Amino acid sequence: MAGNYRSLGIKLTPQRLAILKCLDGNETHPSAEDIYRVVRKRFPTMSFATVYNTLELLREKGGLRALTIDPKRRRYDPDTSPHHHLICLGCRKVVDVHADVTAELPQEMSQGFDITGSHTEFYGLCPACKKEKQ
Ligand code: ZN
Ligand code: MN
Repeated sequence: MAGNYRSLGIKLTPQRLAILKCLDGNETHPSAEDIYRVVRKRFPTMSFATVYNTLELLREKGGLRALTIDPKRRRYDPDTSPHHHLICLGCRKVVDVHADVTAELPQEMSQGFDITGSHTEFYGLCPACKKEKQ
């Protein structure tokens, strides 16, 4: 993935590379805090702002998708392909759904918008949280 990011025209400092490495193939939909916790081990002087600003820069360049599904924390997804999400209301785990469940908005309800995409969120309890509740 770090190779792909080179094409986004982002200057790759060692700190940014550590952030990219942490994102590479990461399917946990980490928050900036999650990434910070990991990269801080290698770069103890790295600030949270550096992590946050890098993630936002990547998002602006189209290399990262930001998910607003967690009201407390913005979550990031290095998989920018169209897909949906399962969200656990217990532990805030976010899991990919690659099934074609896209809702069709009837023309007369699109209020003049040219629709370019949609994203479906499925809420509930994950198996681990469900087990804990029993
Ligand atoms: Zn859970
Ligand atoms: Mn995802």
